[in-house]
Amino acid sequence: MTSRSAAPQSDGPQDPRYCATCGGPLVDGDDSRFPVCQSCGRVSYLDPKLAGAAMVQIDNELLLVRRAIQPAYGRWSFPSGYVNRGEQVERAVEREVMEETGLEVRADWLVGLYSEPGKTVVLAVYSATVTGGELIAGDETLETATFPYDRLPELAFGGDAEIVKEWLVGRNGRALPQP
Ligand SMILES: [Zn+2]
Repeated sequence: MTSRSAAPQSDGPQDPRYCATCGGPLVDGDDSRFPVCQSCGRVSYLDPKLAGAAMVQIDNELLLVRRAIQPAYGRWSFPSGYVNRGEQVERAVEREVMEETGLEVRADWLVGLYSEPGKTVVLAVYSATVTGGELIAGDETLETATFPYDRLPELAFGGDAEIVKEWLVGRNGRALPQP
């Protein structure tokens, strides 16, 4: 493993406690699952939160980051982070990889879109190729390292191992036939 010394993925942002229109306190709505303002009656419709992650291969190993933030502090996962409003998802993934690992990458193809009932965050996972930069431990990262696919550390989130599997399958399906 090459070691040098992450980002949100599971629980997502906290629900708001105050009305965005008048600042009044929010209470649970009767008819909807959304909170309602006690002062002006406005319903706060809560949207999903989109995050992006990158599967990056380096010398036939997978790039992982050890998270310096909650949730899953200290655990290994893929470079990932929230997509900003107005930002193209591929560019967000590339930005997050740069911020967390110092590597310039190009997001190539969508591995999958991952969501779970009751979870706020929807995760878009891209396969990405390194185009430049130098591996460091960047923002929200304790450490960065690459691991052989069959000897990955315990990953931060329940669905991570499945994502790796689907990425490897997709990657092999895209490989050009050998002459
Ligand atoms: Zn209000």
